[in-house]
Amino acid sequence: MFDPQQVSPKETDALLGVYRRPDPVFVSGEGCELIDREGRRYLDFTSGIGVSALGHGHPLIRQAATEAIDRGLVHTSNLYRTGPGELLAELLRDRTGMDRVFFCNSGGEAMEAALKFSRKHARMRAGWTLEGGDEPGYRKTGVIAFHGAFHGRLFGSLAATHKAQYRAPFEPVMPGVSFVDASDPAAVDTALDPERIAALVVEPIQGEGGVRPIPDALLRDMRRWTSDRGIALVLDEVQCGVGRTGTFCAHEDSGIRPDILVLAKPLAGGFPMGAVLLSEDVASSLHPGDHGTTFGGGPFTAAVALAVVSEISRPAFLEGVRARGQHLERKLQQLARRHPGLIREVRGRGLMRGIELDREVAPVVARALEKGLLLVGAGPRTVRILPPLVITDEEIVRGLDLMEEAMEEVAGSAGGGVTGSATGQAGS
Ligand SMILES: *Cc1c(COP(=O)(O)O)cnc(C)c1O
Repeated sequence: MFDPQQVSPKETDALLGVYRRPDPVFVSGEGCELIDREGRRYLDFTSGIGVSALGHGHPLIRQAATEAIDRGLVHTSNLYRTGPGELLAELLRDRTGMDRVFFCNSGGEAMEAALKFSRKHARMRAGWTLEGGDEPGYRKTGVIAFHGAFHGRLFGSLAATHKAQYRAPFEPVMPGVSFVDASDPAAVDTALDPERIAALVVEPIQGEGGVRPIPDALLRDMRRWTSDRGIALVLDEVQCGVGRTGTFCAHEDSGIRPDILVLAKPLAGGFPMGAVLLSEDVASSLHPGDHGTTFGGGPFTAAVALAVVSEISRPAFLEGVRARGQHLERKLQQLARRHPGLIREVRGRGLMRGIELDREVAPVVARALEKGLLLVGAGPRTVRILPPLVITDEEIVRGLDLMEEAMEEVAGSAGGGVTGSATGQAGS
């Protein structure tokens, strides 16, 4: 069996160096805390990037996982029917108002499927056939995405990810993506060329891009423009969906219904799962053989996800997220008032918040870790707060106190003033 004490104090060079990780080795978790092998506890304001929505070691997850293991039904492939995935699809349909669900294993993979589905949809609407040649539908393959967008690291989802540093070393990525600025609605309207564009992909609240919400009115405009032009509206709620904002989906308050809705991170409480939810109109253009996955929607992961989604979608649970989200917002506004030079802006909704600083965020994240608080950046200057949805008011206050201390210490040691610049290790 695995012995944590055998792990070296410094990370092994057997692992590919695509991450820069701090030293603590986490060996267990409890609620909103992770515990390292020295027994030190860290309050988790990241949830492993919005994944561990029920925190660590939640009894519902343990029960669902243990039952599935004890039954000996972990995997069958999609050659055969199993129960949990079917029940989960029905539950997600109820909760979101979408019609059909395709399961896979990650956000990037789900976005990849969403891009494929929107192309097939555009093509079928144009009367495309396998034998056909150069119908107009064949040219309607373009994608519009936003400045600051993050949709994944695969060749399609990467193509729709804005940061050039992520794309440039691997080009050519999927062709046909154009980026527009969400703060310029006229440019979005113009970019949505009905002849050429198959999909508009939108994070209702950008995560990696700095916790930037799209205003509801703009979401509704985008819904109207895309509907009128036969363009699929794809909402990427991989990070902001599944209860994070206090409603099951982040776009709920806008009243729109997308053509394709993409969920992933928290779906299975820490086990890998992604889901692509489709309208019947898009679903009707897809047929056996068009897409597939070996692991997606398997009975183990789906059984855990069924427990997680059932819990999160309880009205009282979502009510609690909204209440604690408001508490967090009030506290952040007070914090911003105490540090007008250091804090430029506070953004976000529910338990998804970004605090934009006047400086690099990495030293603050590093200092917070030393103090026993886990934080993550969103872009170079924004601290991102994504606690487990089960966080308590007391834990919110405790974490924010530690974060404030870390900010003050970094500001102080960077040359006295709150305007001094700090450098340090790159963010995650
Ligand atoms: C994390 C993320 C993805 C990619 O998910 P992976 O599971 O890492 O592939 C896609 N879109 C958004 C909005 C994300 O936050």
